[in-house]
Amino acid sequence: MSKLIEAHRIIKERVLIYAEKVGEYPRKVLIKDVKSRWGSCSSRTRTVNINWRITLAPLEIVDYLIVHELSHLKHPNHSREFWSFVSTILPDYKKSKKWLRKNQEQLLNGSIKIDAAAD
Ligand SMILES: [Zn+2]
Repeated sequence: MSKLIEAHRIIKERVLIYAEKVGEYPRKVLIKDVKSRWGSCSSRTRTVNINWRITLAPLEIVDYLIVHELSHLKHPNHSREFWSFVSTILPDYKKSKKWLRKNQEQLLNGSIKIDAAAD
């Protein structure tokens, strides 16, 4: 199975799981192939964009990105309310956020050799 097809499967599955927890369902989930960013969300069109390369990271990192973007359907900003909402879904989100910042260059540039531990 190609990495991209596998990425679609993983992203759709995790979005379904977390949309229910977040209580917000996107109208559309678009899977992107870009080297600049992990995801974005338009609360106006209720569209969530996810970079397929996130699936090269451990699953908890995938979950963090998905929860982050879905939470923007509630809070379309990075306010204190936004982060506090994210922490109700993923109490350990700061660890994933840090991991992603540390490893993103490697992931975005196509290398799949990454640190296994998320801390
Ligand atoms: Zn954000």
